[in-house]
Amino acid sequence: MSALDQIVLSTLPLIPTPIMRRLAGRYIAGERLDEAIARLQGLASEGHAGVIDLLGEDVRDEAQARKVLHSYTAAADAVHAARLDAYVSVKPTHVGLELSEDLAFDIYHQLAGHCAGLGQFLRVEMEDHATTERTLRVFERLRREHHNVGIVLQSRLLRTPVDIEALAPGPLDVRMVKGIYLEPAEIAHTAPGAIRDAYLACTAQLFDRGATVSLATHDEVMAADLIKLVTERGLGTDRYEFQVLLGVREPLWKLWKDDGHRVRVYVPYGPEWRAYSQRRLRKNPQLFRHVVRDTLRF
Ligand code: FAD
Repeated sequence: MSALDQIVLSTLPLIPTPIMRRLAGRYIAGERLDEAIARLQGLASEGHAGVIDLLGEDVRDEAQARKVLHSYTAAADAVHAARLDAYVSVKPTHVGLELSEDLAFDIYHQLAGHCAGLGQFLRVEMEDHATTERTLRVFERLRREHHNVGIVLQSRLLRTPVDIEALAPGPLDVRMVKGIYLEPAEIAHTAPGAIRDAYLACTAQLFDRGATVSLATHDEVMAADLIKLVTERGLGTDRYEFQVLLGVREPLWKLWKDDGHRVRVYVPYGPEWRAYSQRRLRKNPQLFRHVVRDTLRF
């Protein structure tokens, strides 16, 4: 991290809420579920499917984790009531992974059952490397009991090809990402080119084992190679889709959609938007540069 990044990031808590809200506003649907649903409806009218994420992580007591379950069942119900093509996506530490794997499993298990009843999917997200092993174990347990669940894998991590190999046989749904957490060089690729090459290799590996892959990226150079990969293999839209973050590089979504690819937009919401935005920006100052650059540009 550069000295300038450090100075800028140390001032984050001092930024007044209305300004911070403006910085975050483009990327976050709002504080309430109805705001997220309205945003998803707007996106649906433009032909985009959705993912809904309640902001938050690192829950440290069980009652709080169970409250998160309740919020997510309400989000799934609201998606169903609005007849949206969307599903919930949940961070393991938001449902108590730091307290116990059993608690996180239990909450995911209940939520997966609830979503299945609504005909919906459930995505288990991936956080920093300290949680990878436990998240994969919870996911494998979950996968033995539910068919409507998927995981996220990060190309940045050196372990990911081995993890793909180790996942039990059977239907598999993966959101492939570069990885938002800056990880130590002993366990992760750090150069952008290496992270990109690893992304392509992991995606090919996943397709070869029959997985359905959500290509979560805004990197148009890498996306062109991904489209080549999909075309060469003759894969239909039942095997892949693009996933993008709300507010990030919208012209790309249109381009992909007009070319016949499905695009699903990730819509975060919730009262914890400020704490979440600050943590995200601290963990990856590059995000801060994206936000400031994009805010100044538009
Ligand atoms: P980059 O090379 O980082 O970005 C390409 C260009 O896109 C940049 O130059 C910039 O102009 C723009 N851009 C990218 N990100 C942003 C941003 N946030 N704000 C503004 N502009 C931006 N990571 C995880 O570790 N775990 C997860 O569970 C996870 N889920 C994700 C879900 C979705 C739907 C998406 C799209 C990403 C998710 N990520 C997750 C984040 C991911 O790991 C990357 O950090 C992020 O997508 C940026 O990488 P990129 O592939 O877009 O390429």
